[in-house]
Amino acid sequence: MKHDPVKNLFDLKQFGEFGDVNPSVTDSATFTFMQAKTMTETFKGEAEGCFLYSRHWNPSNKYLADAMAAMEGTEAGWVTASGMSAITTVLMHLCKSGDHIVSSMTTYGGTFAFMLNWLPKYNIEVSFVDITDLEAVKAAIRPNTKVIYTETMTNPLLQISDIPSLSEIAHEMGAKLVVDNTFTPLIVAPALHGADIVLYSLTKFVNGKNDCVAGAICASQQFINEIIDVNDGTAMLLGPVLDPFRSSSVLKNLHTLHIRMKQHSYNAMYLAKKFKEAGIKFIYPGLTEHPGHSLMKKMMNTDFGFGGMIAIDTQTVEKANALMECMEMADVGYLAVSLGYFKTLFSNSGKSTSSEVPDDIQRQMGLSEGLVRFSVGLDHDIENTWQRIQRCMVQTGIL
Ligand code: PLP
Repeated sequence: MKHDPVKNLFDLKQFGEFGDVNPSVTDSATFTFMQAKTMTETFKGEAEGCFLYSRHWNPSNKYLADAMAAMEGTEAGWVTASGMSAITTVLMHLCKSGDHIVSSMTTYGGTFAFMLNWLPKYNIEVSFVDITDLEAVKAAIRPNTKVIYTETMTNPLLQISDIPSLSEIAHEMGAKLVVDNTFTPLIVAPALHGADIVLYSLTKFVNGKNDCVAGAICASQQFINEIIDVNDGTAMLLGPVLDPFRSSSVLKNLHTLHIRMKQHSYNAMYLAKKFKEAGIKFIYPGLTEHPGHSLMKKMMNTDFGFGGMIAIDTQTVEKANALMECMEMADVGYLAVSLGYFKTLFSNSGKSTSSEVPDDIQRQMGLSEGLVRFSVGLDHDIENTWQRIQRCMVQTGIL
């Protein structure tokens, strides 16, 4: 049967204590027991439905985690205080000193910095590869490789990862495939294509309101149990838990994600076509000239389009800055990092969210210093937005 993430979310029967249509917010760090024995069993993970302490589980967090798992088609989920803490928790849980990771060279800058600068302190080595080159991925594998890491649609170059093939390569040698799906919620369900663990920065499209930072880990029940084990679970012991009030607000926003994703995708496709007509160098997986277009078509749920992320190459930092400042003044949106907001956000990736990536590696991965990444908003009149962008392009000599 076809995986229907929106139906899965719609069918969730999550009510509050008094039949509230929104689940109650459990504003409590600890939980009381009538019997001491039940407390002991809960610590051992043997008491179904009991909560012991909110760093481990909180009912409000469980509602959101269950909804994320339903959307992804995984057995279970866990929600974190940020996307970065979802990423770091999973990698630290899967790897120990002496292990090795093969990662896409193009990832969110924070993820790249964590792998380049932080993991080596614990003797975990990372080989960065062009994730679209499966031969390069295979060649980078070592006997001690524990993880292949990628993003479904990479930040900021919008490459498309071949999740089924990467999963095969990983599983052949007993490694796990970990996929960050932040750019493509509902569009791609990586676990259904063989990913073992799916990660999210909920801060972005899933929440969509730019009012908080949050993350999620979607995986097997066994993996989630492992990370919250009181003795050696990385999530339990490092404690990157999401506040239950935030879980409650993110959950409400998750239920409008299907409508928002369609509009983000519609608007981004509109701009991509305009950029193409105008002869501007752009990256958008929705058009056939993108090298990952047909691969994405094979993996995607076509109901939600190709996503809201698009990038253009203005060639130089000076042109990128002039364009962004003009677009800010012309109310195209905001010159700001982050994505998935109802307003269009734009930034020069090499000088912001990928500035952690050394210049030589930026060049190696093909990240132009003039790359402007757009997270296209929910604009009602995208033609009007295009006209504003076009005027700024003319004003700054890009057109
Ligand atoms: N993953 C991707 C693809 C991102 O773009 C980001 C942030 O920009 C993160 C993870 C980190 O998420 P957070 O800022 O919620 O920690």
